Amino acid sequence: MPAEILDGKAIAKQIQAETKQKVANFVAAGGPQPKLAAVLVGEDPASQVYVRNKERACKRAGIDSELVRMPGDTTTEQLLEKVNQLNADSAVSGILVQLPLPDQIDARLVLDTVDPNKDVDAFHPHNVGLISQGRHRFLPCTPHGIVQMLKRYNIETTGKNVCVIGRSDIVGKPMAMMLSGYGIGLGGEFANATVTLCHSRTADLPSTVAQADIVVAAIGRPKFVTADMLKPGAVVVDVGINRTDDGLVGDVDFDAAMQVASYVTPVPGGVGPLTVTMLLENTLAAAIQQHDA
Ligand code: NAD
Repeated sequence: MPAEILDGKAIAKQIQAETKQKVANFVAAGGPQPKLAAVLVGEDPASQVYVRNKERACKRAGIDSELVRMPGDTTTEQLLEKVNQLNADSAVSGILVQLPLPDQIDARLVLDTVDPNKDVDAFHPHNVGLISQGRHRFLPCTPHGIVQMLKRYNIETTGKNVCVIGRSDIVGKPMAMMLSGYGIGLGGEFANATVTLCHSRTADLPSTVAQADIVVAAIGRPKFVTADMLKPGAVVVDVGINRTDDGLVGDVDFDAAMQVASYVTPVPGGVGPLTVTMLLENTLAAAIQQHDA
């Protein structure tokens, strides 16, 4: 029997409707309109699309947004000045600096300068530290979207073997931290998995993937995970977005995985829509936290 598709689009729609209602309730109770400021440096075409999608999603949820465009030759100092202005602007609840930044910019310094209370991507070391201790202020959008999807499909994680492939600060590392935690504030017990974090230097990746009840692939290599690697009945979450001559493909050979796995996320329409969705949730959370502070 083919696997069931984990429909990220449908889950995203459901969560966005909930966020919209929560925003309306917050504003009706006297809270300020949540507002996201997105900073885009340069003309990277993929980044332009991502930022536009984020602006549209904000609008749908009743969240204000401001796009700050800066030229491709912006210096680190100029970008820091802008970030500091947004930090000081009480109308701005959340700040997002779209990555990648041009090479001349010290990206780490810029991300470290975003006020942790407005860091809706959860990239600031202070927020990463809080996540590692199980007391997050914000959860990073892509891994957060993935846990929401697992939870809403009633996919058990407690005691399961999870293989996360890829150790980026944006996806792989926080994903491993969250799934191996003992509860991540999503209502009731969630996570508690036994997680193996694989990367480009992992000695025998196929044998690790073969043990996994849940595989999260965040590598950036088209169709890297093949059916023969997977344990029958595994849950396969494909984070990869790879532009190829055949269009967008994930890090998993989707058609092959559908024959072996129990659940598979498609690309597109799987993890992607959830990433934007959780950004909205984080912007609302930032507005609420700032209002309550
Ligand atoms: P990254 O390039 O920062 O990290 C890739 C990771 O893959 C590295 O840790 C590396 O060690 C590992 N890797 C590379 N080759 C490997 C190999 N042969 N075997 C094992 N591990 C290997 O990537 P990232 O930012 O985490 O993004 C990964 C993919 O996910 C990309 O395709 C990106 O476009 C996509 N992505 C999608 C979303 C979404 O919302 N769907 C969000 C973020 C990233």
